[in-house]
Amino acid sequence: RLWYPFFNRPSTAHLTIKTIVGLRAIAPGLPIAYTERDGYAITTLEITTPILGLDLMIGRWQVQQKFMSGRKEKILLQTYFDKVNAGIAKEYLDLCERYIHFYENLIGTYPYSSFTVVSSPFPTGLGMPSLTYISEKILKYPFIKTRSLPHEIVHNWFGNGIRVDYSSGNWSEGLTTYLADYWQVELASEDEAKEMRYGWLRNYASITDGDEKSLQAFTTRHHTASSTIGYGKSAMFFHMLRKSIGNEPFINCLKDFWLTYRYQSASFHDIRDTCQTHTNINLTVFFDSWIPTVGAPKLSANLTQTNAPERLMTINHDGKWVYPLDVEISSDANAIDSTKLMRGDEITFALSVDDVKSTKIKLDPNFNIWRKLDAAELVGTLRDFIAAKQATYIQLTSDIQDGSAIISTYFMENTTYGEQTPDSNKSKKDPVIILGDIASITEHLNKSVNAIDSEDLMPISEVDFVMVSTYITNTPTLLISTPKVITDKDFSMLISRARHYGKYSWLKISPNGITEKGKWPIQEKVFSF
Ligand SMILES: [Zn+2]
Repeated sequence: RLWYPFFNRPSTAHLTIKTIVGLRAIAPGLPIAYTERDGYAITTLEITTPILGLDLMIGRWQVQQKFMSGRKEKILLQTYFDKVNAGIAKEYLDLCERYIHFYENLIGTYPYSSFTVVSSPFPTGLGMPSLTYISEKILKYPFIKTRSLPHEIVHNWFGNGIRVDYSSGNWSEGLTTYLADYWQVELASEDEAKEMRYGWLRNYASITDGDEKSLQAFTTRHHTASSTIGYGKSAMFFHMLRKSIGNEPFINCLKDFWLTYRYQSASFHDIRDTCQTHTNINLTVFFDSWIPTVGAPKLSANLTQTNAPERLMTINHDGKWVYPLDVEISSDANAIDSTKLMRGDEITFALSVDDVKSTKIKLDPNFNIWRKLDAAELVGTLRDFIAAKQATYIQLTSDIQDGSAIISTYFMENTTYGEQTPDSNKSKKDPVIILGDIASITEHLNKSVNAIDSEDLMPISEVDFVMVSTYITNTPTLLISTPKVITDKDFSMLISRARHYGKYSWLKISPNGITEKGKWPIQEKVFSF
C-alpha cells in the first residue's frame, strides 16, 4: 500500500486511522484517542506543529507510554516495540526522558508534545519529527541507545524543528552529530572524545581527492565520501567554532539560533549571523574559509631564523584556512603550550627556548582541527579499503580462483582495480591488496612500520582467516591470509563479515567462529630541528 500525503508547505493535521484490532497505527504527532469497536481499532492523532509530509506506520506492536515534564508542557514518551524488544521498552522511555531533559537545557524547549520510538522490521533507521523508526534487530545494542537515539532526538530541534535551507549546504547532520554523538562521548571521557575527532580525520584520509565536495555542496549521505564531509567535517567545523568563540558563547548561540529560527528554515549563513552577535571574532572569514572550500590544512613547522636570541618559528598549512591552532613546544629546559590563530598562508612567531637541539614541537596534538593527518599519525583501518579506488590486487597463493572478484563484490564499494604497474609509476596513495597464505602475509607484515603492536594478533594458525591494514613503505596495504583449504563460498562469507569491522586495523576469525580484532595505537608527529 502506498501512502504519500505531502503538503506544499508546512501544515498542521488531524489524522484518523482505522485498522483491524491487533494492528496499531502511529505517525509523527500526538495520539489523542484510541478505541476498539466491531473488530476495528480507531487511532486519532493530532499534528499541531507544522510539518511537510506525514509518515504512517502500521504494525503488531506492544505500546508503552510515560509522561515527562518538559519545560513548557508535559511530553508523552512512547515505545511501539515488537514482542522481542518489549522487555527494553522501559529502558528506552527512561533514556528518552534523560536526553530530552538534557537537550532542553542545552538548546531550548522541546518543540513537540510527544516522542515515539518505533521498532521496524526493515534494516533501516529513519528519523521524523517527534518519532524515530529503528530496526528491531539492533534496538538492543548500546551504540543505538547511546548514539543513534540522542542523534534522532536532537534532530527534533535541528533538521525538523529548524529545517535546512540547502542554499549553503546541509548543516543539520554535522550539528546533530556534534551535539549528540560527540557531545555525549565528551561528557563521559575526553580520551574517547579525542579518539572520535581522530576518527573523523582518519576517515578523511581514506577518501580519494576527486570524491571530496565542500560542506556547501553536501545535501545528504549517499556514500562514504559524502558522510565523511557532511557528518565528520561538519561536526569538526562546529567543534572549531566552539573552540574559536568559547564554550559559553557557543551554547548561547545554540539557544539564540533555536529561538530565532524554530519552525522555519535556516542556512549556514544564518548560523554565522546568529553567532556573530556573540563574539568579536570575524566569523565571515572563518565560515568562508571552511564552508565553500575543499581540502584541509597540512601542517608543518620550520625554524626560519635560527640565531639566538631572535629565533623565529614559521607554521605553514598549505592554504588559507582560519582556526585556532594548539602548539606544544618543549625542550629539556621548559615546556610551553599555547593556542595561535592561524590565518593567511602562514604564521611566524618568536621561539623562546634556550636549546634548539632538544626542542620538540607538536601541532594540534589533540586533533581539534579539520586537517590532513601526517603519515606518522595514520593508523591503517580496514575501512580504508572498503572505500578505496584504484586498488592494486596481488594474489600470491591460495585455493581461491579469483579473489579480486570476491573482494570487490563483498568488501569494497568500488569495483575498479588499477593496473599492476612498476612501483615508480604508481601513486603512493593508491592502495595494494595482497591475498596469500600465512607465511607470505607474515613476511609482508614484518616490513610494516605502523603495525607496531602486531604481536597482539599472533599467533596466527594455518586455519585462521586474517585481514591486516597497514602501511608498507608508505603505501596503504591490506594483507589477507586465508586457511590453506577454503571454498569461494566460505571466502565470500568471511570477507563480507569483515565489512562490519571497518574501524579496526586487523581482524582474525578462527574456524570455530571466534573473532578477534584490534587497532594500532596512534603515533604523534613531532617536529625537531
Ligand atoms: Zn542525522
